[in-house]
Amino acid sequence: MNNNKFDFDYICIGGGSGGIASANRASKYGQKVAIIEAKALGGTCVNVGCVPKKAMWYAGQIADALRYAPDYGFDAPLKNFSWAKLIESREAYIARIHQSYERVLGNNNITVIDGFAKFIDNHTVEVNGKTYTAPHITVATGGAPTVPAIEGAEHGITSDGFFALNEQPKRVAVVGAGYIAVEIAGVFNALGSETHLLCRRHTFLRDFDHMLSSTLVEVMQEEGPTLHTHSTPKSVHKNEDGSLTLHLENEKSLTVDCLVWAIGRNPANTDIGLENTDIELNKHKFINVDKYQNTTAQGIYAVGDNTGEIQLTPVAIKAGRFLSERLFNGQLDAHLDAKLVPTVVFSHPPIGTIGLTELEAEEKYGKSKLKVYTSQFTSMYTAMTTMRQPTRMKLVCAGENQKVVGLHCIGLASDEILQGFAVAMKMGATKADFDSCVAIHPTSAEEFVTMT
Ligand code: FAD
Ligand code: NDP
Repeated sequence: MNNNKFDFDYICIGGGSGGIASANRASKYGQKVAIIEAKALGGTCVNVGCVPKKAMWYAGQIADALRYAPDYGFDAPLKNFSWAKLIESREAYIARIHQSYERVLGNNNITVIDGFAKFIDNHTVEVNGKTYTAPHITVATGGAPTVPAIEGAEHGITSDGFFALNEQPKRVAVVGAGYIAVEIAGVFNALGSETHLLCRRHTFLRDFDHMLSSTLVEVMQEEGPTLHTHSTPKSVHKNEDGSLTLHLENEKSLTVDCLVWAIGRNPANTDIGLENTDIELNKHKFINVDKYQNTTAQGIYAVGDNTGEIQLTPVAIKAGRFLSERLFNGQLDAHLDAKLVPTVVFSHPPIGTIGLTELEAEEKYGKSKLKVYTSQFTSMYTAMTTMRQPTRMKLVCAGENQKVVGLHCIGLASDEILQGFAVAMKMGATKADFDSCVAIHPTSAEEFVTMT
């Protein structure tokens, strides 16, 4: 199939979620494909994102279970936790994922080129002094954590540094208000570090339904981490004993052993020779793409975190796969549908959310056209114990037929509950459809089909 003018039919720059998915799909249609990866196959998700994060979150869940254990009749005290053992098991698991990627890419005859790619022109990239050409090139370079431009910021680490920690810090400050801040602070806290979460505004997860963040604040007040609102570091000082003192804009200060910046991520679009192509960036430095992932350069596409699309692994994967379906399998209208993307925050307890928040629905439909159903209870798993934890759920329904336009939950198992309801919502389910389904008892999920 290879057009002899070029080395490959298709090159993906970046072997992360989007690049690998797109490359594998292209190879299925007989294309001669190469992936260029500067660091490790699997990208952010596998190496410094979803996978190691979930491993750490599971460790936190086990610590929580040990806290509940006495009320279930177990004499299983929470002691002698080994951070080093956890990291060893986590990295061994990731090594197995790498092996599996290598096997699949090998089976699909995809060439993996190690190194950092730079564009020479629209159809040529250079890696370690060698050039490679293709009529179709996808930029799937992902992103990198943001560090604030304040004095002493370099004493802090980012999520990448969090995954590189070989020892558990005793006192930690996590600065930020999004997924990563909430998740990392939750893990440290569950595993026993004295943890401080610092947000610059009145709360965190501000784009989420208010019920979710306010419930998590409640749980934090009971179980930690300590939340500091309206707290923005203005400088960081490293002390003689290695500890760090954060001086805040509100004139307070905080001394910890480890500081994690979790204030967002920048697209990894610099230094890749974009000036040698016709690719245009938008004002936030993301690559400008249309709904088909076309950039402004003919034959160059972009998928994933560097495009400004929702920064989630399944989003990058779907965009990458649809792109290959379109380019190499004649599916001319194949493209990502970024509406109704379900998402989970692996907080303690987890959050599951899809669709419009109550506020967004009010703005879109008007309050009078909405019916909002809520349910709150103590999850049975924790109700048996002295450490009771709330579960809260919300359905936002719009119009005469009460179409479900938003579904939100926080509480044990919310992470696993969401996916099936997301399918129902993609199909346009109404409240009546939800009600027509027989509940599964006793579960938390049954609340979604029994709300009145
Ligand atoms: P990436 O996966 O980042 O892959 C980009 C790859 O390109 C990297 O391997 C990089 O080394 C390589 N690269 C960059 N420049 C070049 C170059 N010039 N030449 C060669 N290679 C290059 N999403 C979820 O859905 N669920 C989660 O639970 C979740 N947890 C997360 C936790 C953390 C801490 C972080 C940081 C992210 C998390 N995400 C999660 C987001 C998810 O990881 C990203 O959305 C996803 O990885 C994006 O995929 P991508 O293909 O765009 O980029
Ligand atoms: P986010 O963009 O989600 O959140 C960062 C937040 O930090 C901002 O919204 C802002 O909130 C706050 N912030 C920004 N600048 C500053 C500053 N200078 N000082 C203090 N606070 C600041 O970024 P994350 O880094 O948390 O995560 C990046 C993306 O990765 C996420 O959006 C998500 O798509 C993905 N991800 C997904 C996960 C999952 O699926 N479970 C887990 C982890 C990441 P405010 O304006 O309220 O202050």
